[in-house]
Amino acid sequence: MEGQYEEWHKTAGPSPLVASKQETPILTRPLVPHVGKSLLSKRSRTPERPPHPAPCPLAKRMKKPSLIVKTTEMDAFFRLIDDDLIQDFLWMDRCCRIADKYLLAMVFAYFKRVGYSVQQYNRMNFFVSLYLANDMEEDEDDMKYEIFPWALGVDWRSRYPRFLRRRDHLWEAMHYRAAVSRKCCEEIMLIAPLHNIWQRLRSDNHAGATRHYPKDEHDYEPRGPGYEPIYCALCQVEMIS
Ligand SMILES: [Zn+2]
Repeated sequence: MEGQYEEWHKTAGPSPLVASKQETPILTRPLVPHVGKSLLSKRSRTPERPPHPAPCPLAKRMKKPSLIVKTTEMDAFFRLIDDDLIQDFLWMDRCCRIADKYLLAMVFAYFKRVGYSVQQYNRMNFFVSLYLANDMEEDEDDMKYEIFPWALGVDWRSRYPRFLRRRDHLWEAMHYRAAVSRKCCEEIMLIAPLHNIWQRLRSDNHAGATRHYPKDEHDYEPRGPGYEPIYCALCQVEMIS
């Protein structure tokens, strides 16, 4: 299978599973083994996981796909990403510290796990899912707070407790299975590998669990829409658009 995916990638075209625009379900391999209930579980970004030993042929035959993606769902997700506010949010996050391609793939995995209809692919569910994905994967808490003003508006300080309850409900609705493997994220990306959100690769400056910034929770104040991207001394991101 690995070679097959690589082959799709090399051809730089969409996965054969989505070649048809018909409502043929797209099957991927099972979504993530449950890693644990703790929100402290983090996926390492930098080192690749060592290859697993080859599964026994019987176990391979018995493995049933648990993630079935319809083209309407993938299309609805990309339409949601095209939302003006979400596009501005992604533009603001130039270093991809809050919403890199893996975190965005996790959002889609959550939508599937919780069984949202395409009508529920909306801003609020996007931001709540992205917040939970950050909880799962990121060691620095400060950056994810930037989600609050984008999701809740200028009154975010009075509304964020309810936002956090939404996150808890989402987590519970997934039976506390919020970990998503790197491999699963990459399989989601391979459904439409050329989409621009999958180009959101985080710089090595921000990879891994190493902190490059002094940790001071009072240093960072969420800003929300209408501001320039967060200045990053490491990447020396220019402040001009
Ligand atoms: Zn940076």
